[in-house]
Order: sequence, then C-alpha cells, then structure tokens
Amino acid sequence: MKKMMKAAVINEHSKDLEIKEVPIPELDYGEILVKTEAAGVCHTDLHAKIGDWPVKPNLPLIPGHESVGIVEKVADGVKTIKVGDRVGNAWLHSACGECEYCLSGRETLCHDQQNSGYSVDGGYAEYFKVPAAFVGKIPDSVSSEEIAPILCAGVTTYKALKVSGAKPGDWVAVFGIGGLGHLAVQYAKAMAFNVIAVDIHDDKLKLAKELGADKTVNSANVDPVKFMQDEVGGVQASISVAVAKKPFEQAYYSLKRGGTLVAVALPNEDMALPIFDTVLDAKTVTGSIVGTRQDLQEAIDFAGQGKVKARISVEPLENINDIFDRMEKGTIDGRIVMSVD
Ligand code: NAD
Ligand code: ZN
Ligand code: ZN
Repeated sequence: MKKMMKAAVINEHSKDLEIKEVPIPELDYGEILVKTEAAGVCHTDLHAKIGDWPVKPNLPLIPGHESVGIVEKVADGVKTIKVGDRVGNAWLHSACGECEYCLSGRETLCHDQQNSGYSVDGGYAEYFKVPAAFVGKIPDSVSSEEIAPILCAGVTTYKALKVSGAKPGDWVAVFGIGGLGHLAVQYAKAMAFNVIAVDIHDDKLKLAKELGADKTVNSANVDPVKFMQDEVGGVQASISVAVAKKPFEQAYYSLKRGGTLVAVALPNEDMALPIFDTVLDAKTVTGSIVGTRQDLQEAIDFAGQGKVKARISVEPLENINDIFDRMEKGTIDGRIVMSVD
C-alpha cells in the first residue's frame, strides 16, 4: 500500500481546491523528498486555479512553488543535499541544462523546463519532491515561514530590479504592493534605489511606507503618471507587479526618457505600446521571469542577512479557498504562508 499525505488539489478550473489524501510522491534519480513546514501562496497559484493563462496546467494539480521544509529522503544521484537539510522549491522545478539558454545563464528561458505547482505537482501538501539541483538552500537565521515568500516573490522582484538596469540613487516605481510588490520595495531599498510605491488600497501603501518606500501614490485617487513626472521627472524604472492592464500602461508613462518598464505580473490582457514615444524617448519594455538558481540564492541571502523580511501571516492549508478569495479582492497584507499538518 502506498503511503498517503494531505494535499490541496485543483481538480477543475475555477472550482474550489479539494483537501484530500493523495500518495506521497515517489522519487526518481536525483530527486529529494521534503516534509513541508511552510507553503507561501503566490498569485500564480490563483492563475493556475482559474486557468486564465494561454498555457494551462494539467489537472488534477497540487499547486505551490514557495514551499519550504526538511529533507526526509534523497534518491540515488543526489550529491549536494542530505537528509535533515532545510530547502525550498521554486517555480523553476528543473531545466534541461544543455540548451543555449541553460548554457548562457538564462535557464529560466529553457524550452525544456518544468514548473513547480504548474506543470508538475508543487508544495501545497505534507510532502513535495524536487530535483536536488534546483532547490533553494535556507540559512539558519530565518524561519521557514519567513523565507517561503522569498522562493518566488523575493527572487522574482530581486531579478526584475536587476534587469531594470537602474543604478543606486535612481528612482524606481513599484506598481502593486502585494506579495511581490512589498518585497520589491525592500529589495529596491537594499539596492540603494529611491522608491515610489503605487497601489489602489491605502493599507498597502501604509505597508510600503513602513518598509521604506520614499513616496507612495494611491492610483485610485491620484494619477500616478502625473505624480511621477511632477515629483521626480519620471522614474528610471517601473516594476509592474499588479495584475491588470492599466497599471502596466501607467508604469510605462511614468518612465523618464531612457527608462525601462519591467513587466512581471501576468494579467490575461494586452497593453497598448506607443511606438512614437518608445522610439523618441528610447524606452525599454522587457519581461522578467522569476530568476535563475544563482539569483535565488542571492535573494535568499538578502533575507538571511535581515535586509529584506516578508510580511507574513500564517494560516492552515485548509484555508486555501478563502485565501484565494481574499487575494482576488486584494485584501491580503503582504503574503499568506500556510502551515501543513
Ligand atoms: P498579489 O495579489 O499579492 O498582489 C497584487 C497587488 O496589486 C495587490 O496589492 C493589489 O492591491 C494590487 N493592484 C491590483 N490592481 C491594481 C492597480 N490597478 N494598480 C495598482 N495596484 C493594483 O499578487 P502577487 O502574488 O504579488 O503576484 C502578482 C502577479 O505577478 C501575478 O500575476 C503573478 O502571477 C505574477 N508573478 C510573476 C512572476 C514572474 O516571474 N514574472 C513571478 C511570480 C508572480
Ligand atoms: Zn535548457
Ligand atoms: Zn510565484
């Protein structure tokens, strides 16, 4: 008889997840089995539930790519991880290691990648499995709950700031102060940028201020484009982590000449991109997708050293459907991390 575990499962798009018993995953060569201590809830998991992206996950699916726990078992071929280590999974579950992208430090662009909690089962469960070569290694100085959001929200925003090309002292705008955005504000400050936080909820802006944002704008009441052009002459970089088209367009028009919009959120909409302004103002619009394993370890180190700290609340796995409802309404403060027992 197979050993069983508790998991939250998407059976059908837009239907509630089911908390049920499923078999504990069996390991293949190079994989490890991790007993979950904390599982962060990313908005991507909500996209997986709804199925609103062009590429849909195969169902049934266990979501979760911000899960942290203790290694309980290692398969043949595992060299760098041992039983008892504390690790986390990430969106980049695996990559081929041989293509032009993998070989040139751009493994998140690998055509042959798997994604935790999307193309393969993730960590909304008592146990998850992952190739040992792709885990984040967790320093002793942080709790599993605190580090969980760094595994996706942290590395993603850290990487987005890196690709923005902004330099210390530049003004950077963060659109959407949710799970990703509240960490973007902190990485941006740790990287010596000046930060303007934008959201449509005042409590998110209050959080951004507490986390070090230099200026805040409620774009439900104030035009953020005018605000940024008036206050700082436009920003060098905009990071768009709000799940709607409008903030992407505002983020573009908030740039100064030569500025860069880094697109990170994934609303199922297109934005209009003006050719004339893009050419004359030499603006850049780029996408940014999570981060490599190296980016991940760097992002974790910032948290390990206390330079960034996720604002979390811990709730049981059983709350997942209610957590998704609150995420859709935009009423979550920072990140919710689930306990699984
Ligand atoms: P979240 O729900 O925690 O945060 C979204 C925030 O946007 C909320 O604070 C909300 O108030 C705010 N918001 C909503 N409408 C807004 C508007 N019109 N203007 C300004 N702010 C607005 O979501 P999250 O977990 O931070 O994820 C954000 C997005 O990023 C999702 O689409 C997710 O799939 C995507 N994502 C992308 C990557 C990547 O690598 N590119 C990685 C992780 C997540
Ligand atoms: Zn590859
Ligand atoms: Zn994520």
